[in-house]
Amino acid sequence: MIIKNVTNRNGERIDITIEKSRITAVTPVEGTALQESLKIPAGGSLGESLKKETTSSGYEKKVDAAKACASGNTDPQNGALSLSSSDVLDAKGFVVLPSFVDTHTHLDKTTTGMDWYVNDNAPELSSWVVNERNRRTELGIDPYRQACRLIERDIAQGTIGIRSHVDIDLEHGLTLLDGVMQAREDYKDRAHIELVAFPQSGIVARPGTCELMRDAMRIGADLVGGIDPALMDHDPVAGVNAIFKLAEEADRPIDIHLHEPGHLGAFTMGLIIDRTKALSMEGRVTISHAFCLGYPEPGLAEPLIERLKDAQISITTDGQAYIKYVPSVMQLIQAGVLICGGNDNVRDMWSPYGSGDMLERAMLIAMRNGLRRDDLLLHVLDICTENGAKLLGLPDYGIAPGCDASFVLARAHCAAEAVAQVPRGADRIVFNHGKRLG
Ligand SMILES: [Zn+2]
Repeated sequence: MIIKNVTNRNGERIDITIEKSRITAVTPVEGTALQESLKIPAGGSLGESLKKETTSSGYEKKVDAAKACASGNTDPQNGALSLSSSDVLDAKGFVVLPSFVDTHTHLDKTTTGMDWYVNDNAPELSSWVVNERNRRTELGIDPYRQACRLIERDIAQGTIGIRSHVDIDLEHGLTLLDGVMQAREDYKDRAHIELVAFPQSGIVARPGTCELMRDAMRIGADLVGGIDPALMDHDPVAGVNAIFKLAEEADRPIDIHLHEPGHLGAFTMGLIIDRTKALSMEGRVTISHAFCLGYPEPGLAEPLIERLKDAQISITTDGQAYIKYVPSVMQLIQAGVLICGGNDNVRDMWSPYGSGDMLERAMLIAMRNGLRRDDLLLHVLDICTENGAKLLGLPDYGIAPGCDASFVLARAHCAAEAVAQVPRGADRIVFNHGKRLG
């Protein structure tokens, strides 16, 4: 199949040739190739590349690309997508985006496709953990069925990679993980799914959880999770040490939820960085949320961000508008920290919001960070695509010859417009391993 006249992320018009599940050629459309100066720098580590791009000259290049695209002859309003034969798709008026990667979700929790959960949770967030733990079975939130529903929806919207945290606790043991692992097996040909053993109720405060976590790693979890060692375990040193000990024993990476505020979160983050360095786990630790980095206390975030960069710790952000302080994605990008995006809770007992759509999530992250310029929107697109692919180590990812033919066509003048306007329905066409969905 040949997809003709599609606009790429850099504003160039290209034809994409697909054979079976691979991209075999990417060819500039004659007379429309942009000059060399408009190309985004390639090569080197993503962190270095992003850093380069966040210099003023880098910004200019992306702005120029976006302007060139917007003033070109693509017209999403008038450009009809025509299929002249089964082998040629004229995609004039569409942009091609790399497949989306959701590096933080909870497949075992979603109520997608179920009755509406009436959220009358008590005001104290600490009680929400107990509420969910006590009621999820009674409400019929079957982990296998619900994971399948959300994965199906994610794939249909253009996601190819998912990292999901799955609850491990004394009440449910490994049953939730069992269900999500079964769903992962069912969808293994359509999406790369990583599972984090997630001690939602804490580890050291609830004896027996550590052993369950060890069992979770043995039966098939990919990463060791953790949550708020100070607030949940009331002993940040013991909590952090327990997480790293599990990771060391199983030789697996770590992904820790850290909601802790201000200086408390900064203290715990310091412990995480210390253990990462002490165990030579650079590049194998992710901190989800990292809200403390967004707190306004002077001098709090900068030294921590430098240390995160040094320890090669990545950050996952979700862009929830109902959270008061979140890290600045541009501050992290400028520091060279790998930052990825996730939906986190999708219509569950924690949040009534979310659709699983990572393009919508990119828009939400951009809005949450106050970003409006085209070049900044492209950075957020990267957060929800390339950066996540790097974190998950997705092989053959991207829009280039030899890459897996998984990508999204979105009706828009340019990629920045796709992020801001979130084309849906017939205005979004998903290719998954060379197959057109829908
Ligand atoms: Zn989460």
